[in-house]
Amino acid sequence: KCNTRATELIVDKSLNVVKGIKYRSKQNIGSPSFDMYGDFIIDCTGRYTSSPNWLNENFNLIVPTIQIHFGCSYVTFIGERFRIGDSSFDSALVISNPVDSPEKNVGFIVIPIRTIKTNNENSLGTSSTIAINCVNSEYPPNDSYENLLEWTKENLDPKYYTILKAAKVCSPLIPSRHAIDDRKYVESLGKKWPQNYILLGDSMCSFNPQYAQVISEECWFSSTTNDWKTPTLKVIETDKYGQVKTYQRDGNSTSTNNPEPRTPIMIRFMQ
Ligand SMILES: Cc1cc2nc3c(=O)[nH]c(=O)nc-3n(C[C@H](O)[C@H](O)[C@H](O)COP(=O)(O)OP(=O)(O)OC[C@H]3O[C@@H](n4cnc5c(N)ncnc54)[C@H](O)[C@@H]3O)c2cc1C
Repeated sequence: KCNTRATELIVDKSLNVVKGIKYRSKQNIGSPSFDMYGDFIIDCTGRYTSSPNWLNENFNLIVPTIQIHFGCSYVTFIGERFRIGDSSFDSALVISNPVDSPEKNVGFIVIPIRTIKTNNENSLGTSSTIAINCVNSEYPPNDSYENLLEWTKENLDPKYYTILKAAKVCSPLIPSRHAIDDRKYVESLGKKWPQNYILLGDSMCSFNPQYAQVISEECWFSSTTNDWKTPTLKVIETDKYGQVKTYQRDGNSTSTNNPEPRTPIMIRFMQ
């Protein structure tokens, strides 16, 4: 884990260049700040990046963004799976039961990590990442596995409850309740964008983890074609002048007249 925190950009405003960063130790509050210079500054500080604030403070630049909030949440843990007596599931290493809002706002995902040695003949011999995810703010609990099981019994298909009930939990239950689609339209700023500075990974754009495989425009298409059906959808659009428009679907509006949304042109092209 990184022990330092980047706190500011070092810039030359007149040349529109980022020259470095200021950073300090995370351990001690009030610790001294240090300067680090580089020919090229890559911001890979993830979905909570401070880059929009830094760019605004230093260059008076507003990064146009579209954020889509669909009440996404994950509870993830590492678990050992055991046989449930259903060969179609016992033989499947990867299980994916995706969310399909508005009819189904809860999903279930199993992804194997590695094989493990065990003497238990009922064990499938793998440790896996097991995740229960939702949209529409229908959050699964993470305070105890008993409560999570109780919740999945009511909210998931019984088959997935059986898999969870048989599993051995090998890690804490990790919640994530802040996943949104967040796309920064840096390309629209042209030469106003400072030289020698790039955003990489989630700091540039992040998506619903159900579709997100790190950075990809296709995730944006997948998510916007599916997550827009979420009944409590909220979209926040910030333009380059800092004007913010918020669109929120209310409880009375129908989420869609077209249960099968049209496939975006880019996806059709790829198909
Ligand atoms: C619940 C969930 C499940 C996911 N599942 C998958 C999956 O199955 N497959 C997949 O491909 N992707 C998945 N993703 C997406 C994937 O995790 C991200 O796309 C990926 O981690 C982004 O990498 P990154 O390096 O850009 O940012 P991050 O992994 O977020 O790393 C950013 C790092 O920068 C550090 N940092 C932040 N601010 C500062 C600062 N000021 N100074 C110094 N350091 C700082 C943070 O502490 C962090 O360590 C999932 C995401 C979530 C939330």
